[in-house]
Amino acid sequence: MTDADKVIKLQDQCPLALNAGEPEIRFANGAIIGGGRQPIVIAGPCAVESQDQINRLAHKVKAAGAVLLRGGAYKPRTSPYDFRGLGPEALRYLAEAREATGLPVVSEVMSPEQVAVAEPHVDMLQIGARNMYNYELLTAVGRTRLPVLLKRAFSATINELLQAAEYIMLEGNKQVVLCERGVRTFEPHTRNTLDLSAVAALKTMTQLPVIVDPSHATGRPELVRPMSRAAIACGADGLLIEVHDAPSQALSDGSQAVSPDTLRAIVSDVKAIARALAFAPDENSSRDPQPLAALQTSAV
Ligand code: PEP
Ligand code: MN
Repeated sequence: MTDADKVIKLQDQCPLALNAGEPEIRFANGAIIGGGRQPIVIAGPCAVESQDQINRLAHKVKAAGAVLLRGGAYKPRTSPYDFRGLGPEALRYLAEAREATGLPVVSEVMSPEQVAVAEPHVDMLQIGARNMYNYELLTAVGRTRLPVLLKRAFSATINELLQAAEYIMLEGNKQVVLCERGVRTFEPHTRNTLDLSAVAALKTMTQLPVIVDPSHATGRPELVRPMSRAAIACGADGLLIEVHDAPSQALSDGSQAVSPDTLRAIVSDVKAIARALAFAPDENSSRDPQPLAALQTSAV
């Protein structure tokens, strides 16, 4: 099959994901993902552990510059013996944290039943890597009017990710944000291998926003900041970062969480890189086609 044949085939497989995506997703607090605007940061703990924990961290991530709060109510765990989330109780705590901080909330759902439970409490639904191929679930979130954060499965190709987005969009929901969160390779030093070429490739294929999760990609807090910088530099529309203020006591993924102070540094990196690359400040302009020129000016 020639490259041209492959493009035609993909056009047949995911016409909506390739051509009809919502380029920017707007939230009640004014945050916007995509559209060539300043990249945003979504942050929070892997799991909602208690009312106090999510409330405290919501204030801390807001103070650090995050514009959306992410916390897991339903946790897909590789081992069934690990903490699997507080479920509906966590959704209530998230809604309270939103009330207290004004931050829109994102949380993962793993079944169509959970979509119905979560929908009234959250501003964005997350589909985790393990569920990218769960077509019943993709259809269920496609029937809501909430934006969907769709994570790439461990070994999914870019085309498979776009076809998963197609399932959501086919139900009428065009607000899909794609998330690169690392893929499985031979390298055990990092939890996964962050595939930034997928980000750059997706940006040439679809107008759907693309964000990067350096926390699950690396599994190492000391690598989250450098990979965040790289993600923004290669064109990501935002970051999804796991944050905890007591990582050793976290019930889930504490070993990869960064501190609120590191989050603050990452937000400031994002702004500096966005300035250097001249990301558009408003909807009337697009990304600077000559980022090098912008870099030289800002370096003087
Ligand atoms: C998560 O976001 O906490 C998570 C479980 O991520 P992933 O689905 O990418 O493994
Ligand atoms: Mn996690």
